[in-house]
Amino acid sequence: MNKRVLVTGGSGFLGSHLCDALIKKNYDVLCVDNFFTGTKNNIMHLIDKKNFELLRHDITFPLYVEVDEIYNLACPASPIHYQFDPVQTTKTSVHGAINMLGLAKRTKARIFQASTSEVYGDPIVHPQPESYWGNVNPIGPRSCYDEGKRCAETLFFDYYRQHNLDIKIVRIFNTYGPRMHPNDGRVVSNFIVQALKGKDITIYGDGTQTRSFCYVSDMIDGFIKMMEDTEYGFTGPVNLGNPTEYSIFELAENILRLTNSKSKIIYKDLPQDDPRQRQPDIALARAALKWAPTVSLEDGLKEAIAYFRGIILSYL
Ligand code: NAD
Ligand code: UDP
Repeated sequence: MNKRVLVTGGSGFLGSHLCDALIKKNYDVLCVDNFFTGTKNNIMHLIDKKNFELLRHDITFPLYVEVDEIYNLACPASPIHYQFDPVQTTKTSVHGAINMLGLAKRTKARIFQASTSEVYGDPIVHPQPESYWGNVNPIGPRSCYDEGKRCAETLFFDYYRQHNLDIKIVRIFNTYGPRMHPNDGRVVSNFIVQALKGKDITIYGDGTQTRSFCYVSDMIDGFIKMMEDTEYGFTGPVNLGNPTEYSIFELAENILRLTNSKSKIIYKDLPQDDPRQRQPDIALARAALKWAPTVSLEDGLKEAIAYFRGIILSYL
């Protein structure tokens, strides 16, 4: 029998690319999504495959299915979306984790958690190794996401220690590529759409804050390496991301150059608790998973720009 794999959040940006990769491996894929930020368009091309199934379901409610592996990705990821209904964001991370861990316990499935670099908050240690406990505001506008994801990690480790569950946790650093939501407010999608439409490029703050951008194919490769790692008891958390760090201003300049855009850069207020710097220390991923990103920012941006150009043209 083929491996039966559940992907929660499977019609979102990362989830849909993960479904593609798992279908290619000939697994039976069950994509579960409530379509809050995901869209059927992202997985439309899989609908006719006999090893793909789509279920509309909100993971804050229990789910009874039979599976061998669970990738838990369901959760809005962009600040605009996760702050839209912060209580639901926390519920998705916390109740959602409890429901998926319960499912893993009953079915004895291996379970993977899509955690985040946001567990480090506005980091004082730079770059961030997994051993760093972070600098997180528990009561700010980003807390529903950051603390929700931190609590989910706690739950995963308690199920591991208490019920001997086979857990795998990755901490994802900023990832970009085709199928990002064009209006999700994340910096890469915002700047590309603004540049292609000839609108002002909105830098928040002075643009000296940094991020490290990983292309989606590298990230999905890392997910599968982690999930299929044979060393029992290697739980993570393990950082996955591209360690090449850019300032937001440098990112804007790159996107203007690659799109040949005449847009001008304008400066807006920095959102509250916006992290000053972010760069993954990926020594653990390199050593334990033999994983490292391979796609440069330039090559990845070209792919993302081509995708956004396509959807902007299809709106006209
Ligand atoms: P996304 O918003 O495109 O995907 C999230 C998916 O989860 C969407 O399809 C959404 O409809 C679904 N969803 C949300 N709440 C749900 C619920 N209660 N029940 C069922 N489905 C629900 O975001 P993404 O960038 O693909 O992120 C996927 C995962 O990776 C998230 O858990 C996110 O926190 C994590 N992550 C992403 C990044 C990144 O840079 N993309 C960085 C760190 C962590
Ligand atoms: N940002 C920006 N202009 C935008 C969108 C985002 O300058 O139009 C900045 C944002 O303030 C942050 C960085 O880009 O410093 C990354 O933002 P994003 O929302 O993509 O991710 P996160 O802050 O969660 O890393």
